[in-house]
Formats: sequence, structure tokens, C-alpha cells
Amino acid sequence: MKYVGAHVSATGGVFNAPLNAMEIGAKAFALFTKNQKRWDAKPFDNKTLDLWFKNLETSGIQAKHILPHDSYLINLGHPEEEKLIKSREAFIDEMQRCEILGLDRLNFHPGSHLQKFSKKAVDYDDLLQSAELQCLEVIAESINIALDKTSGVTAVIENTAGQGSNLGYKFEHLAYIIDKVEDKSRVGVCIDTCHMFTAGYDIRTREAYDKTWGDFDKIVGREFLKGMHINDSKPPLGSRVDRHHSLGEGEIGWDAFKFIMNDERMDDIPLVLETIDETIWPDEIKAMYELVEK
Ligand SMILES: [Zn+2]
Ligand SMILES: [Zn+2]
Repeated sequence: MKYVGAHVSATGGVFNAPLNAMEIGAKAFALFTKNQKRWDAKPFDNKTLDLWFKNLETSGIQAKHILPHDSYLINLGHPEEEKLIKSREAFIDEMQRCEILGLDRLNFHPGSHLQKFSKKAVDYDDLLQSAELQCLEVIAESINIALDKTSGVTAVIENTAGQGSNLGYKFEHLAYIIDKVEDKSRVGVCIDTCHMFTAGYDIRTREAYDKTWGDFDKIVGREFLKGMHINDSKPPLGSRVDRHHSLGEGEIGWDAFKFIMNDERMDDIPLVLETIDETIWPDEIKAMYELVEK
């Protein structure tokens, strides 16, 4: 079974998210459990929690099909001590918020090393590789700390387009982090189709799709796939630029989404649209289900 939805608004309170999901015919959804542009947030009050659980029940959507996303401010691989500590504290708070909401996974972008090297430098590749490896170590340590201080919530690392110094654009990065995480039962990945494509992984033809996901199985392991972001892409393959597009409107095209809807790897996990025109989300969700071959 496939569970398709979108990253819905939680404006006015988290309890609005399940209702917003219902309204667009979603069987899954993503949300921010706090303002994603701020560091701090008030703890949930009882009224908020009561409404959340009530609305969630009304929507009929199960916790495992909900993929909360953390704040964009958090960088779990920050090279500066003070900012790293701030990020780690905020991440633990987000994990705890998920725990309180009865959610079992939290989606986040791994982190950035923020170093700038001149491509003219003779040892550019060495410099870049050592900055990346060091950053991946810090990210893994951040995850270990957060898992130690929380329970029941899986840390779900999202692949990135590789913009700037963002890590996670190679399957090897995801595998490297997972390898250093002590509790393998509480770490997973979310694959964003736009990020995957602009990072250089083609999924447009049957052959390309099978090659890319075969590599994923080998390098990361399909058992770690805990969610997906379903987006078409404005920029072309391998451009390392993160710009989403509506399904079928971008460089990826419908075939890839048809392969996904008929791939058992994507059974029983949240498949979440982050496409640019939310007024057509109901149509996009419907169109995704129509791709399922009987
Ligand atoms: Zn995404
Ligand atoms: Zn993106």
C-alpha cells in the first residue's frame, strides 16, 4: 500500500495539520511542529495536545505515515562549537516534541561544513573531502547524542541536492553517517526525488531508475528508507541546485513517479509532496494513485 500526502500547514497550531491533510485527500503528511524559522518554541499545552490527538483520529492517518520536518536553522554538522551546541539542543527539543505528539520519525537535512575552497587550489579535492568527512563525523555524533536523550523517535536523514556545502547528496554520505550511529534501529533516510535527481541520480527511465535504486539498496540499504519527498525538478540532472516543481512539469517527468508508485520499496512509508503549487495538491495526490498498476 502507498501513502501519499503533502507537507501541510500547521499555522494556528499543530492540530490543524491533520485536518489540512484530510482536505486534500492525503493518506500521509509532513509538518513543522514549531515555527521552522525560529530557534525557540513554547512547549505544547494540554489543549493543543487534546486537539491534535482528536483531529489525528478524525483524519484516520497513522503516526508512521507522518513525517515531521525539523527547523531550517539547525546544522548538526556546524564547524563552530557554540552553534553546534545550539543546533544539537534545538534538535533534541524537536525530537521530544515528536515524542509528545506520538510521532515515530523526524526528518532533517544532515548538515553543512560551511567551508569555502577555491576551485583553483591545487589540493581542492583533498580539502573538500577532508571537510566533508569531518562534518559527517560531527553529524553522526549529533545523532548519537539526540538518540541517547530521547526514545521512540527515529532520526530520518534527508538526501540533499548538494547545494553549497550541504552534505547528503551522495548515498555514500548517508551510509557513512548510518554506519557511525550506534542505535541502527532508530536511524533512517528520506529520499527527495528532486534532490536525488539534481545530485546526479537519474530515475527517468526504467533502466536508470533500477540502476539508481539498486545502488541505494547496495550502499544505504532499503530497510533504512523511512519516507520520501515526491517532487519534480526545475533544474536538470546533476545541477546540484534545489528547486522543486509540480509533478510532470519539471525535468523528471511522470514515468519516475509511476515507477515509485509500483515499487514495493515505497510501501507503508510517507510519500510527501513538497511541490510548488499547493492549490493542485489534491489533483497531484489523485494522479499519483492513478499510476498504480492493478
Ligand atoms: Zn525534501
Ligand atoms: Zn528541496
